[in-house]
Amino acid sequence: MKKIITILLVLLVGCSTITEPTSKPEPVKINYSINQNQHFDQGQTIDFKTLISGDYDTIEIGTPDLSVGQHHVKVTMKKQDVQEVATIQYFIDEKEVVVVEEPPKVEPKPEPTPEPEPAKPEILYYYENSQPAIMRKDKLTLVNKEYRLSEQYVPSNLVAVPTSIATNANQKIDAEFLEQFLILRQDAAQENLTINLHSCYRSYDTQMSIYKRYLKNDPQSKVDTYSARPGHSEHQLGLACDLAATFKTLGKFTGTKEAKWMEDNGHKYGFILRYPKGKTEITGYMYESWHFRYLGVETATQVYNSGLTYDEWYQQNLQ
Ligand SMILES: [Zn+2]
Repeated sequence: MKKIITILLVLLVGCSTITEPTSKPEPVKINYSINQNQHFDQGQTIDFKTLISGDYDTIEIGTPDLSVGQHHVKVTMKKQDVQEVATIQYFIDEKEVVVVEEPPKVEPKPEPTPEPEPAKPEILYYYENSQPAIMRKDKLTLVNKEYRLSEQYVPSNLVAVPTSIATNANQKIDAEFLEQFLILRQDAAQENLTINLHSCYRSYDTQMSIYKRYLKNDPQSKVDTYSARPGHSEHQLGLACDLAATFKTLGKFTGTKEAKWMEDNGHKYGFILRYPKGKTEITGYMYESWHFRYLGVETATQVYNSGLTYDEWYQQNLQ
């Protein structure tokens, strides 16, 4: 018994000698690391401080941009008299997921240049056999996996979405879309429903970056069921928006009273549910309760009454 105790004591003494400070104090240095691939759910407050770990005393985060796209935010850490500045690069995608990227290797600059994309010939950005969209002036242009918009196409009549009805910053949409949506929104409010606009017009380049971003997490065959390839998105037409019930956006919009009301009443104001449930074989997309396309009251009502997807209705009536 005694022997055992002695051995333990020796070990303890040994340990304590190791932990005792033996060298002179080193200059103060802030060690930190960026926590990559952090995901925040929709509606969850994004605490940027959780994206960086380190032995700093204080930390200050710049003002982060929370719109869809690629951004960076400056982080200032202090420890005694030492200050360290880091940059967190992050991406907010359509599903409102934040992905933190590796910090740049060089010193942070005000405008970091994006690293060149390595050539990936296996990724197709156009669907094989797709053709240019047949452009129409009556807001009925069909854009889907078969018909694409050119890289240069920007609608001419975009207006800013008032922030009071948007859950996402800096949104633009077709003027007539907005006019009709405001009437719809008021009528929905009479029934105690709050319908807002979330993600509206998107340029070819924005769609490209969103699509490429998804490809980092999912194989292309899967990404194609929930995200359009650049040029193939109705959002580029300026005639489609993803809706929100207050802050219930995208997937969270599904099953809300607002989603049901939109599905049943949207056509009275010119809007149709573009990717209905059970129509993936035809539209090529999973059910998107939130994505509404503006067609004008007359056509939207016809499409609604036909029970067809817009792809089918267009083929039967306009082709
Ligand atoms: Zn959409």
